[in-house]
Amino acid sequence: MEYYSRHISNLIEQLSRLPGIGAKSAQRLAFHIMNMPKEQVNLLAGAMTQARQKVRYCKNCWTLTDEELCPICKNARRNQNQIMVVENTRDLAAYEKTGKYEGVYHVLHGAISPMLGIGPDEIRLKELMHRLSEQEAEEVIIATNSSLEGETTAMYISKLVKPTGIKVTRIASGVPVGGDLEYIDEVTLLRALEGRVEL
Ligand code: ZN
Repeated sequence: MEYYSRHISNLIEQLSRLPGIGAKSAQRLAFHIMNMPKEQVNLLAGAMTQARQKVRYCKNCWTLTDEELCPICKNARRNQNQIMVVENTRDLAAYEKTGKYEGVYHVLHGAISPMLGIGPDEIRLKELMHRLSEQEAEEVIIATNSSLEGETTAMYISKLVKPTGIKVTRIASGVPVGGDLEYIDEVTLLRALEGRVEL
C-alpha cells in the first residue's frame, strides 16, 4: 500500500540514497521540503544541479573546482614543488583552514581498500605519477588518513615515489586512528604536518 503520494515516495527514496540518511531521516527531510517555500526548494534543487554540472576536476591536482586549474594550483605564491597527497577535497579543505600550509595538493579521491575491492587504479595515483614525471617536485607529503586504507595507500605511494628520488614524507601519527582528517582540529593537523617523518 502506498502511504504517500507517488511524488513524495519518490522524494523519500531519492533522499534515502544519500550517505548517512536512513529511511526515517529521508521521511523527515521530504516533509520538511514539502513545507518549504517553493522559491527555496528551487534554490536548493538548482544549487545541486549547478554544482554537479559546473564543478570539475582541476587538471593538475584533481581537486573539485570551477575552472581548468584550481586557485591553489594557479597561485604563484604557493610552493608548487611541495605536494601534499590527500584522500579527498574535504581533507584539502581541512588543511587550507589552518592557513599555514604553503605547498599544493594532489587529491586521490579515495584510498586503496582490498576489502572494498578498491585497487590503485581506482584512485588518482597514475595522475600523481604522471604529474611527478612532468614537473619538478622537492617533496611529496602523504597525508592520507590513519585508517588501514590510508596506511595501505601511504605505503603504496611511498614505494612508487621513492625510486624517483623525490623526498617522501608521512604526516605524524597523533592524528587519531581511523579519524577522518576533516574532523580533526587545526592544531592537531598542524602538529601532524610539522611532525612529518621521511619514509
Ligand atoms: Zn589544482
